[in-house]
Amino acid sequence: MKLATFTHDGATRIGVVTGDEIVDLAAAAPGLPPDMVALLAGGAAALEAARKAEARATGRLKLAAVRLEAPIRRPSKFLAIGLNYADHVRESGLEAPAVPVFFNKQTTCVTGPHDPIHLPRVSPLLDYEGELAFVIGRRCRHVSRERAAEVIAGYLVVNDVSVRDWQLRTPTMTMGKSFDTHGPMGPWLVTADEIGDPHALELRTWVNGELRQHSNTRHLIYDCFAQVEHLSTAFTLEPGDVVTTGTPAGVGGAMSPPRFLGRGDVVRIEIEKIGSIENRGARRDGNGGPDMSRDEDRNAKLAAGRGRLAPIKLAHVVRRTSRFDEMLAWYQSVLGADVVHSDGMLAFLTYDDEHHRIAIARIPGLPDQPPLAAGTDHVAFTHADLGDLLHTYARLKSEGIEPYWCINHGPTTSMYYKDPDGSRVELQVDNFPTAEETNRWIRSGDFAANPIGVVFDPEDLLARYRAGEPIEELRERPPLPTGTTPFDMLRF
Ligand code: ZN
Repeated sequence: MKLATFTHDGATRIGVVTGDEIVDLAAAAPGLPPDMVALLAGGAAALEAARKAEARATGRLKLAAVRLEAPIRRPSKFLAIGLNYADHVRESGLEAPAVPVFFNKQTTCVTGPHDPIHLPRVSPLLDYEGELAFVIGRRCRHVSRERAAEVIAGYLVVNDVSVRDWQLRTPTMTMGKSFDTHGPMGPWLVTADEIGDPHALELRTWVNGELRQHSNTRHLIYDCFAQVEHLSTAFTLEPGDVVTTGTPAGVGGAMSPPRFLGRGDVVRIEIEKIGSIENRGARRDGNGGPDMSRDEDRNAKLAAGRGRLAPIKLAHVVRRTSRFDEMLAWYQSVLGADVVHSDGMLAFLTYDDEHHRIAIARIPGLPDQPPLAAGTDHVAFTHADLGDLLHTYARLKSEGIEPYWCINHGPTTSMYYKDPDGSRVELQVDNFPTAEETNRWIRSGDFAANPIGVVFDPEDLLARYRAGEPIEELRERPPLPTGTTPFDMLRF
């Protein structure tokens, strides 16, 4: 039986999924508990009642008409085990652990099977882990391996989303495993009877349609039953506890070069006999809790003596143009942006959490801009990594948009474009992972000797990237060609 938690007409309740339909248990069996944990706690009798209600139910909803939530929206525990597939241990460059390595995912990170995964503000190292999870159905302690199946209510799919630097810089891993929205699960709980042997299930993870992980739960080092035995040695397991059983090889951070998740990337995890969850990276942070980072006492805000107050970010750039449609299409394409408003006179474009990063204003009859007049030279946009920059370069080239200047400045690898009005746009990536390292390089003397950079051939860089050359080498600024000065590197 597939048990789901779903929202329909603004109300969240539980149901039984059959085919492309769901039976609303609140309607079909009003005597049953209204939430999943209470239903599971009701044991075999409650599940049997749900099964009977499903069989005779007449009012069925189309699955497509409801929103699936995490089957257990706030588990009492959300435990995860690390390094539990030999191939993943190998790709991590570690030894197989002598005891199961359990850690906590905070229960506030739980999110639905189709909900967005938020990109953290503090790190770009966002990664996926496709995993089988089991759900406890019975309060228990000191459960032997042999009897562990009796306390497992069912199974579901989990994406153990991980922020790698935050995960690895402390031994508990808790921080990097618990960012809000980093515990997608579902799409429903499949009861243990329907799964049969949980250690014979195919598991696959795709990112944007590309298969990244493919394994089978028979390769678990500590299987589900061993995990129940180990955990219940120390503490009571309760109905609704979710234990996710580890991930096989193929995580983005272990790829060469690493491929982390960015905005718009879609992770799909499918497990045999259960189904799939699919979650998209989104540039938002927080799952609804109030962000208090800017919430100071308002009189303190106005008090004298606080010194210079800097803005918190650059908000937007407005272009005025007589080529409205052309400019709109150009910025949309070059920045991979969405149009959030356009009335034919004014358009707002966005590609992240800002409501508009670029605005295009139509003013008929404007004169063309004189070349190299005083004013803004260019506006620069930073991509997440070199792969994104090169992919964008190739995509734009196929649309007939080519850079007029590609230069490794030292701190950045940059491609300069001209919009239809001739205004300059720089697409760049930082060559060093932190501002500190950039500053160190700037102080090293290389920058003083050549503050402009060295031009490069984008086709050549793309070919080297595709050939798998390490990022550290690709981003390194080559020496000036002999007989040239930095000023020979300028292009206008
Ligand atoms: Zn994991």
